[in-house]
Amino acid sequence: MNANNWINNEAVEPKSGAWIDVTCPPTGEAIGKCAVSNAADVEAAVAGASKAFPAWSGLTMKARAGIMLKFYSLVKAQSQALAEVIVKENGKNITEALADVAKGLETVEYAISLPQVAQGKSLTVSRGINCTDTRRPLGVVAAIVPFNFPFMVPMWTVPISLVLGNTVVLKPSEKCPMTLNLVRDLIVEAGFPAGVWQMVNGTRECCEALIDSPLVKAVSFVGSSPIAKLVSVRCNSLNKRVIALGGAKNHLVALKDADLEGTTRDVVASFAGASGQRCMAASVLLVVGENDDLINNVVQRARELKLGTDKGEMGPVIDGHSLKKINSYLEASEASGAKLLLDGRSMEVPKNGGNWIGPSVILHEKGSDKALHDEIFGPVLSILKVKTWQDAIAIENANPFGNAACIYTSKGGSADWFTQRFNAGMLGVNIGIPVPREPFAFGGLYGTLSKYGDGDITGEGAIEFFSARIKITTRWPVPVEEEFEPEAALSDVVTDHANFNGRM
Ligand code: NAD
Repeated sequence: MNANNWINNEAVEPKSGAWIDVTCPPTGEAIGKCAVSNAADVEAAVAGASKAFPAWSGLTMKARAGIMLKFYSLVKAQSQALAEVIVKENGKNITEALADVAKGLETVEYAISLPQVAQGKSLTVSRGINCTDTRRPLGVVAAIVPFNFPFMVPMWTVPISLVLGNTVVLKPSEKCPMTLNLVRDLIVEAGFPAGVWQMVNGTRECCEALIDSPLVKAVSFVGSSPIAKLVSVRCNSLNKRVIALGGAKNHLVALKDADLEGTTRDVVASFAGASGQRCMAASVLLVVGENDDLINNVVQRARELKLGTDKGEMGPVIDGHSLKKINSYLEASEASGAKLLLDGRSMEVPKNGGNWIGPSVILHEKGSDKALHDEIFGPVLSILKVKTWQDAIAIENANPFGNAACIYTSKGGSADWFTQRFNAGMLGVNIGIPVPREPFAFGGLYGTLSKYGDGDITGEGAIEFFSARIKITTRWPVPVEEEFEPEAALSDVVTDHANFNGRM
C-alpha cells in the first residue's frame, strides 16, 4: 500500500517522483511508501479545491451536513479496519486505535450539527434599520497534522471546515499516512464532489508550498512547538488566518488526600497510555508532602504493564529517533543524580524488532533536570516531591507550555484553588487526560509554547476560525398606509396590526 496524493477524488502519483518509506513501529519493517510532494503537486491540489469551492459553498449547510452524516456512518462501519491500520503504522494498541477513530467521529458528529448551531445574528439596531451577520466560508483551507492521532486530529478540522462551506487540502503526517488512505473511498461514497476534500502527502517542502499558496486562505496546524511557531510566523507574514497547536509538558499535582487507587490508575494511564505520545499525556507528577504510597503504587502499576499492541498493552514509540531521545533523557537524569524508580530500557521487549521501550519513572532530586522541562513525548514520568501547594503551582506556572494540568484531591475547595491558578488551557480534577469534547474547544493557552495563532481547533472556536462573519446593515422605508399608523400600533400592544393587515 502506498500513500500517494488524493486530488479531485482520484489517487495521483506525485509529480516529484519522490517517496519515503513508512515503517511499522512494532516490527520496524517498511509497510509502504509515502509520496513526498513538491510545489507542483500542491498547486494541483489547491487548484482543484479552488475550482470546487463555488459549487460546494453554494450548497446549503444542511446539504453539506447530509454528506458528512453519510461519511460518519461509513467510517463507523469501517472502525475496526481503520484501527488495524493505526496499530500497524502508529503502534497504538488496538483499544487505543479504536478510540482514535471514535474520538475523531465525535468531531464529525459536531460538524453534522452545525446547521443547528452555526447561524448568524439579527438585530434591529435603530428604527427601520436592521443588522444581520451571516457566516461565509473562507475558501480553500489547509490542515497539517501530526503522527500521533492518524484519524482523530485530521477530524478536528476537516469536517467542521467542510460543513461550513470551505474546501480543504489536508497534509497527513508522513510517518502515518496510511490510515487516511483508507478514508478516500469513503469520501467518494459519502458523496463529496471532486476537489472538495484533497490530500497531499509530503514533508517540509509540501507544507511550505501549501502555506504560501495565495489560494489557501487559512491554515490549521497541529504538531511540535518549534514547527507550530514557524507555521504561525509564516502565515502571519502573509496575513493569513492561522491556528497552530504545539507540544506540551503537562503537570499533575497529587495532594495527600487524593484517592490512592484512583490516582494511581489515572496517573499511569495518563503517562504510559499511547506510550506517552499524546499531547495530553502526564509528564511531571508533583507530589505535595510525603506520599510514598502513591509513588510506590504508580511504579508498581507501571511495572506490571506488558508491551504489545493487544488490549491493555503498551505499544512501541513511533521511530528510532524518538527512542534515542527518550534514552538521552533517562541517561541525563541518572547523570544528574535522579533515581530511576522504573527503567524502561531494562524491560523485556517483544523479540520482533521495532521501537520498543518500557515505561520509566524518574524521581528527581534537582528541579533543573532537563527531563522536568522538555517535551519528551514518550512513556516517561518525572516525579518531584514538593512541600507546599504554592511550590507546586510555582513549578507548573513556570513551565513554558500551557496545554493541560490536573489536580488529584478529594476536596472540592482544594481542587478549585488549583484550577484557578494552573497556567494551562485544559484542566482536570482527578482526570489526568482532561480532553474537552465538543461544543468545548480543544487547545492550550495562547501565549505559551502549546498554542500559536487565532481561535480554536475544534468546537465553537473552530466555527469562528473557519468562517468570516459578514455584517449586513439594511434600511427599508417604513410603509405608511392610512389604515395602519406604526406610531398607533406601538401604543396598542394588544392588537397585532401587522397580522391584521396580512403583512406577516
Ligand atoms: P511535527 O511537528 O514533527 O510534524 C507535524 C506536521 O508538520 C507533519 O505533518 C510534518 O510533515 C509537518 N511539517 C514538518 N516540517 C514543517 C515545516 N517546516 N512547516 C510546516 N509543517 C511542517 O510533529 P509530530 O512529531 O508529527 O507530532 C508530535 C508533536 O505534535 C508533539 O510535539 C505533540 O505534543 C504535538 N501534538 C500537539 C497536539 C495539540 O493539540 N497541542 C496534538 C497532537 C500532537
